[in-house]
This record gives sequence, structure tokens and C-alpha cells, in this order.
Amino acid sequence: MDFQWDRRNKTESPFLIPMSSPDITEAEREVIAEVLQTPFLSIGPYIEAFEEAFRQYLGCAYAIGVSSGTAGLHLCVIAAGISEGDLVITTPFSFVSSTNVLLFERAIPIFVDVDPLSGNIDPVLIEQAVEDLTHNAQSAQRWLPRKLPTQIKDIAPKAILSVDVFGQPAEMDAIRKIADRFAMKIIEDSCEALGAEYKGRKAGTLGDYGVFGFYPNKQITTGEGGMIVTNDKEAAQLMSSLRNQGRAAGDTWLHHTFLGYNYRLDELSAALGYIQMKRIEELLAKREQVAKWYTERLRQVPEVEVPMRLESTTRNTWFVYVIRLQNGIQRESVIRTLKERGIPARPYFTPIHLQPYMQERFGYQEGDFPHTEDLGNRSLALPFSSIMTEFQVETVCNILIDALSD
Ligand SMILES: *Cc1c(COP(=O)(O)O)cnc(C)c1O
Repeated sequence: MDFQWDRRNKTESPFLIPMSSPDITEAEREVIAEVLQTPFLSIGPYIEAFEEAFRQYLGCAYAIGVSSGTAGLHLCVIAAGISEGDLVITTPFSFVSSTNVLLFERAIPIFVDVDPLSGNIDPVLIEQAVEDLTHNAQSAQRWLPRKLPTQIKDIAPKAILSVDVFGQPAEMDAIRKIADRFAMKIIEDSCEALGAEYKGRKAGTLGDYGVFGFYPNKQITTGEGGMIVTNDKEAAQLMSSLRNQGRAAGDTWLHHTFLGYNYRLDELSAALGYIQMKRIEELLAKREQVAKWYTERLRQVPEVEVPMRLESTTRNTWFVYVIRLQNGIQRESVIRTLKERGIPARPYFTPIHLQPYMQERFGYQEGDFPHTEDLGNRSLALPFSSIMTEFQVETVCNILIDALSD
């Protein structure tokens, strides 16, 4: 196929500056060419090298490459023993996949609202929810959705699925305390937070299982891909087997101990990830620089709130650059003006409980999670990547400031 990216981009994309971009160098192109000269396009040396790079970077015992962040989260849900009718505490301010993986197993997500400053799940609300559900039948009701598509198996929540939103870790010490007190597992969705640090400890290593994603807008990319990290040997063995069609260690090719999935990461993707991990500090530093340019320029603009950093975040690794518009500003008209002048921008996130399928299944309504909805209504993600130049950032800011004064 004659796929002329440049020409297509010039004629069909209305945007001067892309919303996000991967950061690919000669090294990535070379390693892909190298893999193509071998017969190992899946289950070869690069998946192992990529996993080893993660173990070293995070200092964890096990790393399991998978075909997407969503696939990784799904396997963690299974490894945590979550099944039909189990309750799991999670956040409505996230990308949908952190909740979808619970629905895949017919578990019931119990949403609690977020801290309005960081957008991360509020541990005070987690504690109230778990206490009420576990000990207080009367107040338990207020944490449950209006409609339940599945019967509750056990009113005591089984796990917490927390999300490190936009590259800032959730309040993991507080979450760990609650989880330990009520014997719950923690799944840490760190798909937006590779390299981020919470009180000096790496995101993804703070729960029982952590997951990263490598879609092209993330800190590193493999095209599609993900990585599970854990120190739990038994869970690691189970998840390795489930990603590989349920073949347990020692199973032959057509012998399957478990009902499994094809969630493997192919060698081309793993090789790309291996090279990107060699460049991780460079990639993170470039993202930080771009965020700095934005913040320097936008912090003076009265209609804009720039991203804040929690004290517990000893390192923020910048997944996206999301500003909040002051109350009363018509976001849709700002987005329209930006688009007319070649700049993409989008709301980030649209709350999960207000997605059509969630409203239909669980009966959620507007007003159910006010902080999440407020952030959802006022947030605006601006173009962001490690390869943006200072001039591009200035261009976006100038056009945004114009759009705000219209
Ligand atoms: C990107 C992301 C994922 C995983 O996405 P995939 O596209 O499946 O790799 C999961 N959770 C959050 C919060 C994300 O941002």
C-alpha cells in the first residue's frame, strides 16, 4: 500500500500541531528492521529483555508484558480473585478501561469521588465507603448504584482499583492502610504514570499489582502494549499463563491448564519498548520541559488553572497537559475556536459514570459525583508530547489566550 503519511496529514488533518506524538528515533527503526530479519515475531528474546528492563527500572520481582494496558488490568482483576458479584472500589475520573475490566468479570464497581485538586480517588471517601458497606447496612445503600445488573456476592469490597491520574500517583499510603485493615487487594492503574514517584517510591509498585500502558500518547510507546508488575509470585505465574492462552509452566503448545487469553505482546512491539526504556529518562525530561513551557506561559492567565502538583508526588511524569477553565467559560466554544486555528484540544476525562453504557447498566445520573463532574466539565487537554518545541507551545498558548478573550 502506498501510504503517504506526510501528504495525507497535510491534506486531511485540519491541525497545525498534533494532539500527541510518539518519539521515535533511528534506534527504534533499526530494532524493528532487526526483528524482521529473524523468525521470532512473537515469544522471542525482546519480550524478555523488555520485561527485564521494567524489573530493573521499578525494582520489582516480576514484569509481564501484555498486548495492552487494558489486557494487563483485566489479568490483575482475575489474579485478585475478583469475580461475579464482587464489589470493587474505584474512581469515575479515569479512562474507561479501569472500570471496564471489572465489568468483564461481572464485578460491581463502587465509585467514590475524587480529590478536587489532584483528580485522584479520595482516600477519605474510600474509607467511608468500605466502613459503611462492611458494617453499616443502612448507610451502605448510598454507595451502591441505583441499578445492579448482577447480584452482590459479598457486601465487603474485595479490592481497590486506584488510578494515577495524568502522571501523579494516588494517595497510596492512605489507600494501603485501608486495604490492609479490610483485607483488600490493591490494583494500581499506573497506565498514565510510568516513572512517576510517590514519596520517592515508583508508581506501579505501590499496590499488589501495577499496570502500565504503551499506546502512542503515553510516556513510552510500543504501538499497542502494556506491562503488569508485581512482587506476588503466584499471581505472576497465573497472569503469565493467562496471557498465553492459559498454558501453565510445563504445558505443551496444545495443552491448556486454564481458560486463558491471547494477551501476548509481539516481538516488534517488545523491541520498540526495549529501546524506549533505554531512553526513558530522556523522554521523561523532554515531557517535563514541555509542561514547564506551558505552565510558565499559562500561569498568568486568569481564566486558566494550570496543573497542580501534590506534595506526595516527588516526581510527576506528565502523561497529558490538562488545564482547567474558570467557571463560566464556554469550553465548547474555546475548543471550536482552537480547532478553526489548527489546534486540537479535548475534554479530559468525560466521567465514566456518565458514559451511556454505564448510565444504562447502573442507573447513574448527573450529580452523582460532583468533583469528578466539575473536573470533567472544566478540563481541557492541550497538545502535548516530548517532541513539541517551545515555539509550538507558544503558538498553542497564544491562540488559547485569543480564544479565551473572544
Ligand atoms: C491508557 C490507559 C489505560 C490502558 O489503555 P490501553 O489503550 O488498553 O493500553 C488504562 N487506564 C488508564 C487510566 C489509561 O490512561
